[in-house]
Amino acid sequence: MAPAWAHMREDDGEDAAEGRSLFHALFQDTPLPMALLGLGGRLIWANDALCALMRGDERQLRGSAAFLPQDESVEDGVSRLTSGRVPSIRFDRALEAADGSPIHGRISVTAIRDGRGHCRLLAVTITDTTAELRATEAVKDAQTRLRSLFDNAIEGMFEATPDGRYLDVNLALSRMLGYPEPAELIAAVNANGHQLYVDPERHLEIANQLSLRGNVSDFISAVRRSDGSAIWISENVRAVRDNGGKTVRLEGSVEDVTGRKRAEEQIAYGSLHDKLTNLPNRGLLLDRVAHAITKSHRRNVFQYALLFIDCDRFKVINDGLGHTVGDLLLREVARRIASCVRGSDTLSRLGGDEFAILAEDLEGTEDAVRLSDRVQKALAVPISIDGQDLYVSVSIGIAVGSPSYRDANEVLRDADVAMFEAKNQGRGRVVVFEPGMAVAAASKLRVENDLRKALERGEFRIHYQPIVNLENGSLMGFEALVRWQHPERGLVMPANFIPTAEDSGMIGAIGAWVLEESCRQVHGWKKSPQRAGIALSVNLSPAQLCECDIVNRIKDILNRTGFDPRKLKLEITESAIIQNPVAAKATLNALKSLGIQLSIDDFGTGYSSLSHLHNFPIDTIKIDRSFVSPMDDAGDHAEIVRSIIMLGANLGKTVIAEGVETEQHLHNLRAMGCLAAQGYLFSRPVSGEEAARFVANDR
Ligand code: C2E
Ligand code: MG
Ligand code: MG
Repeated sequence: MAPAWAHMREDDGEDAAEGRSLFHALFQDTPLPMALLGLGGRLIWANDALCALMRGDERQLRGSAAFLPQDESVEDGVSRLTSGRVPSIRFDRALEAADGSPIHGRISVTAIRDGRGHCRLLAVTITDTTAELRATEAVKDAQTRLRSLFDNAIEGMFEATPDGRYLDVNLALSRMLGYPEPAELIAAVNANGHQLYVDPERHLEIANQLSLRGNVSDFISAVRRSDGSAIWISENVRAVRDNGGKTVRLEGSVEDVTGRKRAEEQIAYGSLHDKLTNLPNRGLLLDRVAHAITKSHRRNVFQYALLFIDCDRFKVINDGLGHTVGDLLLREVARRIASCVRGSDTLSRLGGDEFAILAEDLEGTEDAVRLSDRVQKALAVPISIDGQDLYVSVSIGIAVGSPSYRDANEVLRDADVAMFEAKNQGRGRVVVFEPGMAVAAASKLRVENDLRKALERGEFRIHYQPIVNLENGSLMGFEALVRWQHPERGLVMPANFIPTAEDSGMIGAIGAWVLEESCRQVHGWKKSPQRAGIALSVNLSPAQLCECDIVNRIKDILNRTGFDPRKLKLEITESAIIQNPVAAKATLNALKSLGIQLSIDDFGTGYSSLSHLHNFPIDTIKIDRSFVSPMDDAGDHAEIVRSIIMLGANLGKTVIAEGVETEQHLHNLRAMGCLAAQGYLFSRPVSGEEAARFVANDR
């Protein structure tokens, strides 16, 4: 193949040819890309390395003017080179390879002279700087991107001096701290005396950790915003150190964790407080009781008491009126109890309808009793919800602090026992704990479990107490009264299990059983036509009155037993009506329309609401025996009984006197115009068989 310089231009002289040949010999195989250019800047020869760089062969490159750009500074450089004023020139040049890809080269040009010192050719070497340039660009690009990340990060970011003065902060951080621009934050925080941390100790703490460990993560502290408000931040900071290990600057990110912090605080609060009422819960109460115990051991004069408060028949309201009303009621109950306690006392909701008050710094037991009275008075005013007046009474048990208490649970247990005792005595009572009570309360709890089993095992019995016509002494009917034939305890009276049955919700099932069983039995006795006039009175608990399907349930029982509804009297108490007058009225009307008769039981003991008699479809009033029994000695009671009898007569209701025990009672009642009575004088409640004999003998 012809040597490359065979194609050189005519005007290349002899020396040039010599130079070329020398150049070629030296440089054809060197890895450094090289070329010879004519003085006009066109390529005459290129070595293999240059061809490889330009991705072409020499023939393609020959004549190319690409290596000496036509720009002023290069032209100027070349003229200084050829005239010998400089030994070489150097410049950067963007080239295009034969395949079109861009190449960056650093081009060095030297002059090749003939023997007379005239410049004949230009020798060019090219250093490929493409990769280098790319790397620099990549670094620049990375820097720009980092900056943009920094500026646009959602997280706050900063660079600071080792002692914590901001060098640079991003927009997120300045906004987080209430400054519209980063520069303002930097200026403010670096100004003398500015304190970012709410607690100055935190600044020392973070500095300390950084110098010890070189970084901190999730360092939480409260900081002040520009407007003075405080927020919670979490910082992750790294100390950047030089080779000698000296901290040269700090880099960190900052997150606003105020929301998280609040949630944590709420969780902590929530774990100690009741959601519905916002009152301290059992855990917090026990904690305070424990403190009171310790305090009383240290100081003999310190006296405290724990009041255990339980709403009576709350379940009835909750089941009858729904949980929303139940919740509103509990909130109001909480509010009213709270109005009775002092700031130093702890009112707590233990759960459900149970509350407790830890009263401290008392003079003695009387203080605790007085507090209980205040609570009961505060609740005596009906609570109005959705236009209904609801009546709440509470049973309160008091445990008074004593040196023998070591554990808060013991105090709570004894107050609970006293509360049970209060319930046992009838509702709305206050009882102070005494050591002997524990057994009674324990048995009370057992009763609740046993009731369910008793029903399953058929341990309930019905006794019947006659109701007598005072005009002619004839039998008007019977009241069905439930008893529990307990395998160990013998015959248990209703007062000892009906309240528990009501509170536990078992009353629905027990009541339904009593109704069905008594209807079936009495229907059996009345088979003979002349006995058909006998009426059956059955007690309906307030809870049953609130059952949503009570009317259908009763209708079904009547259908199943074939009992004549007109001969059935359901006895309800005033309180049952008053707890939910609207619903009660609807239910009572529905029962009336089945032909059933309705009696107000224990009249006079409730909320006295003679006015209610007008509004409800009542046929019979039963005067409570607490008015009848003491009639002999006190004139007051006689007057009340007389008024009730008169009232009943005026309203056209049958009046039955309960608890007639003596001839004197009978005499007085007759004199007052009472037409019907029930009581031990005529008969105690008797078994079904005995009652059936009564019916057979009566005429
Ligand atoms: P009550 O409905 O007022 O029933 C009358 C109570 O007075 C009965 O008590 C009866 O034995 C008692 N008694 C009757 N005459 C006299 C008397 O002359 N002197 C005295 N001291 N007491 C007399 P008992 O059977 O212990 O029932 C108590 C309460 O238990 C009943 O009062 C009623 O409220 C409730 N109860 C009884 N059976 C049922 C039932 O099946 N369902 C519901 N929900 N409650 C019932
Ligand atoms: Mg009754
Ligand atoms: Mg009664």
